[in-house]
Formats: sequence, structure tokens, C-alpha cells
Amino acid sequence: MSRKPIIVGNWKMNKLNSEAEEFMHGVEAHLTGEEKADYGIAAPFTCVATCVKNAKHLIVAAENCNEKDSGAFTGEVSVPMLEEIGITYCIIGHSERRTYYNETNAACAAKAKRLFAANITPILCIGETEAEYDAGKTADVIKEELTGSLEGLSADEVSRMVIAYEPIWAIGTGKSADQTIAENCCKLVRDTVCALYDAPTAEAVRIQYGGSVKPTNIAEYMACPDIDGALIGGASLKVDSFLEIIDATK
Ligand code: PGA
Repeated sequence: MSRKPIIVGNWKMNKLNSEAEEFMHGVEAHLTGEEKADYGIAAPFTCVATCVKNAKHLIVAAENCNEKDSGAFTGEVSVPMLEEIGITYCIIGHSERRTYYNETNAACAAKAKRLFAANITPILCIGETEAEYDAGKTADVIKEELTGSLEGLSADEVSRMVIAYEPIWAIGTGKSADQTIAENCCKLVRDTVCALYDAPTAEAVRIQYGGSVKPTNIAEYMACPDIDGALIGGASLKVDSFLEIIDATK
């Protein structure tokens, strides 16, 4: 089966509406919709609507959601709110949210379930810390995070989702995982999906590598059989850099 690559920028807590609009115009001007990969950005809540309004070919993702539909959850944003403005993808379980906001595997599973009900595709992030990597625990972490975060999801849902393997030691550090580590870990993600579900589900799910991906190294990752794209922080913030990434992969 051939999986369509998916490359998504993660702006994190960056960009004003004016900057988001400028970025969308700058990148859209170079896209035709005929590219062989899907391209998109995940934006802060304050500018997702601006991004949707200015998107022609780019996917617009949110960076988080709450699993409940409404209620007394100050500061949270629900899936129906995202659905209303035309969001089609949503990051869940990013390591920064797991670390600073206590996002658990169970919360990821509940968020994913709610997103699928709204036809929004979750981009589930998993990955080990540097200490876990050094202790040889990478495979255990991948299996544990996947098992917990996919709990209750059907094979059909999992086959349509995106999983981003992001070693925490590579995020924002400039210390990207080498091609072999990235491929082996993405393959382990696929094998784990196969063990939890079945071979067709594992064949269909799109798996991204994330962690210090840049215009200069993205082609190496994209050449790997089990890597179907990338989740990109720092190098997705500037139009020029994002266009270089598109040029290296389209
Ligand atoms: P980075 O971030 O590309 O800046 O390392 C990746 C991410 O957090 O998704």
C-alpha cells in the first residue's frame, strides 16, 4: 500500500494573526495541490481561524483539544469549537503537553476518540526522554505510550490517524535522531500497531518522525520505508525554511 506522506509544521506558542496570515500567503503561493505529500501547519488557537480562512492546499491543525464538549473547564477548547471553524487535524500528546500540562495516555485516547467522532484526524505524539534513551528503554516507552493512547480506538480509526514519533532529546535541540534510529523507531511504532491491531492497520497508519527536522535533513528521513512524513517545530516558522522543506519533498 502506498501511504501519502504528511509534513506538518508545529508553531507551538508562536505567531500573531498578522504573522500567520503572511505565512499562509507566502506558502500557498507556491503550492498547486499536485504535490505528492500533504503539507500543513498546527497553529495556536488564536490564529487557527485565520489560517483556515487563508488555506487553499495547506492542512490546518490545532495543537490541542479537550475531550469534553463543553462545561466548566476554564482555558480549554473543545472539539466542536474546532470543528465549527474547519479544523481537520489536531495534535495530541505532544511531549511539551505531556511534560508541562500532565497530558496522559488516557487523555490522549479520549481526545482521539472525540476527534474521530468529529472527523478530525489526530496526530498522536509519542517518544522517549534522553534518560530513557540512555537506559535502553525506548522500545518500552513506545509500546506503553501507544498501548495507552490508542485504548478504545478501532482498527479503522487507527488506520486513518497520524502518529508522530518524536524522541524528546531531539526536540528543539538541533540533535536530530540519525536516519537509522528514526527508521528503527518508526518501524517499531508500525510493528506495535500491528501487534495491537492487525497488518492492514499497520500498513495504513502514517508515521512521522519529529525532532530537529530541517530542510537539510528531511530528505534522509523521507527516504526511509517506515517514515511517512515529519512534524517540524523550529524550521516551520519561517516561510523560506518551510518552502525549502516542501521543495525537498514534493
Ligand atoms: P523541533 O520541534 O522541530 O523544533 O525539534 C519538533 C516538535 O516539537 O514537534
